[in-house]
Amino acid sequence: MMRNLMAMLVCGACALAQAPAEVRLQADIEGLVAFGGRTWGSDSGLEASTWLAERFTEIGLEPGGKDGFFQPLPDKGRNVVAWLAPTVASDSWVLLGAHFDHLGHDDKGVYLGADDNASGVAAMLECALRLSQQTERKRGILFVGFDAEEFGLAGSRYFARTPTRPLSGCAAMLCLDILGRSMLDAMPGTLFAFGGEWSSGLRAQVDASATALDAQVLQLAAEYVGPRSDFLGFALEQVPFAFLTSGTHADYHTVDDLPEHIDYGSLAGHTELISHLLAGLLAGERPAFEGHEPDAHQEARNIALIAHELLAHAEGLGRFERSQLRALERLGERNAAAERLGSLARSRMVVQTQLTLLSTGSLTGMRERLQRVLDGL
Ligand SMILES: [Zn+2]
Repeated sequence: MMRNLMAMLVCGACALAQAPAEVRLQADIEGLVAFGGRTWGSDSGLEASTWLAERFTEIGLEPGGKDGFFQPLPDKGRNVVAWLAPTVASDSWVLLGAHFDHLGHDDKGVYLGADDNASGVAAMLECALRLSQQTERKRGILFVGFDAEEFGLAGSRYFARTPTRPLSGCAAMLCLDILGRSMLDAMPGTLFAFGGEWSSGLRAQVDASATALDAQVLQLAAEYVGPRSDFLGFALEQVPFAFLTSGTHADYHTVDDLPEHIDYGSLAGHTELISHLLAGLLAGERPAFEGHEPDAHQEARNIALIAHELLAHAEGLGRFERSQLRALERLGERNAAAERLGSLARSRMVVQTQLTLLSTGSLTGMRERLQRVLDGL
């Protein structure tokens, strides 16, 4: 006990390495948001990228960029890339990515983006720490902090077109974005995984990790969220991908997205799930990118569950309307009960769900557009 105490006094970094995951996750979120709004190409963004490279170094990763840890983007800004080599000879690797940029500042204040996406960066660093301690890895892992996600996914799309390792070796891409709270702050502990319809192998790995850890992971097709995060460039290059997120809430893209609103226990749980999934991907069969029919009944059950939980637990529904949630729940239940889910019924379900999942203040235009689509179905 005394020796531990002495070690803690002597070495702050060692103490942090022995602390519970929540403590490290909080330290990394606070460390990243300390640079401010991190808008693409700003001093704040550049300082944040330097910090991320330093964190990768502390964990013991190798540089994986073009210029050390950095991959400069054509005009401004830079991705931050680190490599954890396999322990056996292998050309195969997995990519874990999270964007570190955010929205800068305006007359309302500084947009710190604690959940979007310091939470994803912190989870990526925690996974790096855990996996670097494993003695056997049949695949390598490339960790990428993407710049310019908030500006048309520019950093990740550039990386997917101009990768620092041949993309032919990339077995899967996991995209972490907004992991620190929950859908409307009403579904604590629930993780969403989008994109499994493009790879039954990856989809099965996600289910296996959820079962092993007794975690609630709801899998849905990527079309429910549209091209909303850094997985897009990799999907276009036909890399199996999973977009892992805990969902948006009333503080999304506002100056109130602050570290004190993060649910660190929930974030630690998601991080454990992602570490488990990564370990499975490092050891298992390489998943294929194929594109198959989504399991529409499973989706319908998941949709009904989402609406049910939001209705039951959301104190203030914020910008979500109860009538919308009820409609969604009825749609999900009816579809789940149906013998066979027709394509029109599924289309209605997808659009109604997009409406609900995306109904935050900054997406009013999209909401109106989707409502018109729904009215036309
Ligand atoms: Zn984001």
